[in-house]
Amino acid sequence: MISMKNYILNKTNWKSLQEEQFGIALLPWGATEPHNLHLPYGTDTLQSEKIAEMTAAKAYAEGTKVMVLPAIPLGVQNPGQVDYPFCLNTSPGTQLAILRDIMTSLDRQGIAKLVIINSHGGNDFKPLIRELQLQFETSFIGLIDWFRVMENKDYFDEPGDHAGEMETSIMQYFFPDDVLPLDQAGLGQTKAFGLKGLKDKLAWTPRNWQKVSADTGVGNPQRASAQKGERFLEALTDQMKAFLVELDQVAPQDIYSS
Ligand SMILES: [Zn+2]
Repeated sequence: MISMKNYILNKTNWKSLQEEQFGIALLPWGATEPHNLHLPYGTDTLQSEKIAEMTAAKAYAEGTKVMVLPAIPLGVQNPGQVDYPFCLNTSPGTQLAILRDIMTSLDRQGIAKLVIINSHGGNDFKPLIRELQLQFETSFIGLIDWFRVMENKDYFDEPGDHAGEMETSIMQYFFPDDVLPLDQAGLGQTKAFGLKGLKDKLAWTPRNWQKVSADTGVGNPQRASAQKGERFLEALTDQMKAFLVELDQVAPQDIYSS
């Protein structure tokens, strides 16, 4: 039996797109980097894609047509992390160029709303969106850093930053075959900055990943479970879906309250 997922661009076809109109594009954006010892390099990309698909499925079921674009696997990396084999660093300037090209295509096609679904803390899309918003004045360009949406502590004992309990739980739920047993994972222990101003977050500088973590993880994954991942993802994608349903109902210039 053919079960079409018309809201996933990689899986749909020209026939469906002539029959159905989609007003919002979701752009999953990840990174390609080591994730402790137990999670795949594609973790951020796979999560952003699956979270976008889960959200789009819920929106579609309510009649809101949101198209999930192919995920971009190219993230901005920290010093230290980028020196690990096959960690693929992408500069913010390259990300801007990619985003501009995608916006240029969508704009020609009359698709006026794009929402980036970002998985990776090093990807900072706000300045890029500000720049592009001047060029594409009549479009809506939005961002959801999904890991910042929820009170993560309500769902995980110790959510963690990178390959910790939260990311591991999500991957165990979506991709159980691609996660190593947790007795093979590192503990994701980290070294803090020695300077008080950096420790207290008075000042910021990127962390050197090799100095901060021995196993590349930041956060202990040991208490992760697919059940925790599912509970979090259901609540997260409900909230994201509600936003997209709202967004679908207004033109980009009408997002302000009257
Ligand atoms: Zn990650």
